[in-house]
Amino acid sequence: MTSVPQQASRQTVGYTLNGNRYLNVTSRCTLRCAFCPKFHREWTVRGHALRLYQDPAVEEMVAAAGDPREYDAVVFCGLGEPLLRLGAVIETARRLRDKGATRIRINTDGLASLIHGEDVTPRLAGLIDALSISLNAQDAATYARHCRPTRGGSFEAVLDFARKAREHVPEVALTAIDGLEGVDIAACEAIARDLGVGFRRRVLDVVG
Ligand code: SF4
Repeated sequence: MTSVPQQASRQTVGYTLNGNRYLNVTSRCTLRCAFCPKFHREWTVRGHALRLYQDPAVEEMVAAAGDPREYDAVVFCGLGEPLLRLGAVIETARRLRDKGATRIRINTDGLASLIHGEDVTPRLAGLIDALSISLNAQDAATYARHCRPTRGGSFEAVLDFARKAREHVPEVALTAIDGLEGVDIAACEAIARDLGVGFRRRVLDVVG
């Protein structure tokens, strides 16, 4: 059997999809989404094995990004919630900015302020160009059914995060997955419109 340190040394920290360089920040999550591949023992996304045995250090993420000028964007993502590691993401983004990154995006569940106990959105100012926030449902009950949050008030916290992020991040978009039972994509889009942010419809089982 392979030891954990050996597995960690071979784990995927950076991977490229559609001209973007993705950074795999953590495998830990705030949510336990019923539709998430990792809860069906599937950790491979479009040929990239994304299971992490150890969270990569800032230096590893900076190295894994390579020359950020070669990509349309650097995206903090992975099969986990990047902003659980808020400080590491901010420091990595700062270093990538110094290396000439033109566009930096975070794919997030929008629960960072709830988890960290303060409004963290001002810390993204000047570093993060875009946020893609998983709304996933048009109401708290549908959200709870699909995303299985561990904290009360999570759905409302996502909306508040998006509302506040608008002040600090140039492009904020909510996303929802078309094909999940009971999810009303038009209603999700209307929520985004009311918040004054963008919206992107995602397709079930298509990542990127
Ligand atoms: S937030 Fe993303 S990675 Fe985490 S459980 Fe949900 S789908 Fe999976």
